[in-house]
Amino acid sequence: MTFAFGSEILRTASDGQGVEIVYRDGEGATRTARHAAVVVCAGIGSREIARQLGDRINVYPVKGYSITVNLLDAQSREAAPQLSLLDDAAKIVTSRLGPDRFRVAGTAEFAGENRDIRECRIRPIVEWVNRHFPDVSTRQSVPWAGLRPMTPSMMPKVGPGRRENVFTIPATAISAGRCRPRQPNSWPNPF
Ligand SMILES: Cc1cc2nc3c(=O)[nH]c(=O)nc-3n(C[C@H](O)[C@H](O)[C@H](O)COP(=O)(O)OP(=O)(O)OC[C@H]3O[C@@H](n4cnc5c(N)ncnc54)[C@H](O)[C@@H]3O)c2cc1C
Repeated sequence: MTFAFGSEILRTASDGQGVEIVYRDGEGATRTARHAAVVVCAGIGSREIARQLGDRINVYPVKGYSITVNLLDAQSREAAPQLSLLDDAAKIVTSRLGPDRFRVAGTAEFAGENRDIRECRIRPIVEWVNRHFPDVSTRQSVPWAGLRPMTPSMMPKVGPGRRENVFTIPATAISAGRCRPRQPNSWPNPF
């Protein structure tokens, strides 16, 4: 297996026998690869790649935000929860990342493919930590924003694509090249 880290898929095409992928590699060179089977797991980018392979994947970027609180002092490390939490009313989730980091995430924002980190979205998350865990210092919190690949029903869809050599798996958006000749039920049920 060969990994092509830092590559960007520029275009793809399927002729039924295989899939051609034109991509820019990590050094900036444009390359072409041909594969009998491909797996596309490009998040919100899956929509465009699948379109080129003849499939319509109805995914949309839904922006979420998180902060990672660096637990710099013993009191903060003691006070931050060890278990993952879900505050259903506030739509906030938390995870303890090792001894000295506490991640808190939330928010669903419709802003297209915009990854800007907006202070007005980060502030409520910091305030949530201050309110529920007053002994955790949020003095050093690292903000982040990412795009969730979402379907309208929020359910992943897994199945063969229209082309003979294409599978679509938008599992919150994954699509995959077909690995075997098409047969009924040849693709494992993900549920
Ligand atoms: C703030 C936030 C909190 C979340 N919390 C949770 C949680 O608690 N639990 C949970 O289960 N999920 C959570 N999610 C959702 C989770 O992150 C996503 O569902 C998951 O990352 C989707 O995985 P993926 O591999 O399908 O897509 P992604 O993680 O989006 O990966 C797609 C990759 O494809 C690459 N790509 C796209 N286009 C191209 C191209 N043309 N060429 C080359 N590469 C390309 C992208 O650069 C990216 O690396 C959260 C998301 C956010 C934003």
